Amino acid sequence: MDIDLKIFSPVQQINNPLFADRGLCVFIKRDDLIHPIISGNKWRKLKYLLKEAHSQNKTHLVTFGGAYSNHLLATAGAAARFGFKVTGIVRGEDVNNNTLFMCRLHGMELIFTDRESYRDKQALFVKYFAGDENAFFIDEGGASPEAARGCSELINELTESYDHIFCASGTGTMAAGIINGITANKLPTILHSIPVFKNGAFMASEIDKLLLEPADYQLHTDYHFGGYGKVTTELVNFIKSFVANTGILIDPIYTGKMLYAIYDLAGKNYFKPGSRILAIHSGGIWGLLGMKDKFN
Ligand SMILES: *Cc1c(COP(=O)(O)O)cnc(C)c1O
Repeated sequence: MDIDLKIFSPVQQINNPLFADRGLCVFIKRDDLIHPIISGNKWRKLKYLLKEAHSQNKTHLVTFGGAYSNHLLATAGAAARFGFKVTGIVRGEDVNNNTLFMCRLHGMELIFTDRESYRDKQALFVKYFAGDENAFFIDEGGASPEAARGCSELINELTESYDHIFCASGTGTMAAGIINGITANKLPTILHSIPVFKNGAFMASEIDKLLLEPADYQLHTDYHFGGYGKVTTELVNFIKSFVANTGILIDPIYTGKMLYAIYDLAGKNYFKPGSRILAIHSGGIWGLLGMKDKFN
């Protein structure tokens, strides 16, 4: 079986009076259009892991995530698409939300585990699947060199040059992959990572671990809006206006924060006039459904 998806991820310009006034050209790469479920960076991150599982004749994917994890859902979707059995080990008590409903619908079996045991994922894998020679371990969020390699391919798809590329960061894997792609292609582009956690400075060491060569990049740690999964009225209003003005859905957990950062930095004259900026739409729009009461 050929484990691959045809990548459809066009680049679109975002027109806005603010950008016009500052002389900026801002674009968005629509990785969210790659697949509705195996969405955005999650396909890029899973691609080489799935190929590796397949080459080892492993038929059962085992992975980890919180109850709202885009990675769990993407893995469920990919397993269904490419014929793997799949188990998700979920942090916290047994719940049934939109994400887990969709995971189950795609055939994922769920095991709920307390927060304490969730910390040691290898131990959980051994506990449940030591006797299953078909089981293949995929870390939370897919974090791995294979995942960074998949993300670096995004750079090869670009047909124009950009001064700045922006992405949201959870594990930092996508950021590292993009930086590796920039370095390999000897581009002058600077990658900007927006950690979606409070105290996101730790992201630098996570990114650095996955770099194939040391490289400069920018970390903007002030756009977490209170922390992972947290929103403010300002962020919600930004998302409402962005969606209504562009027709592009974004989520409050990742892409909303990253795009807010671009608008905010543009307003503060952070970019030189004439700069070309590319935002990566890394998918995850199902995250909106879990937060719809915040949008009233
Ligand atoms: C998982 C995810 C990210 C974070 O990617 P990392 O490689 O973990 O930094 C960003 N955006 C979306 C929409 C995601 O689902």
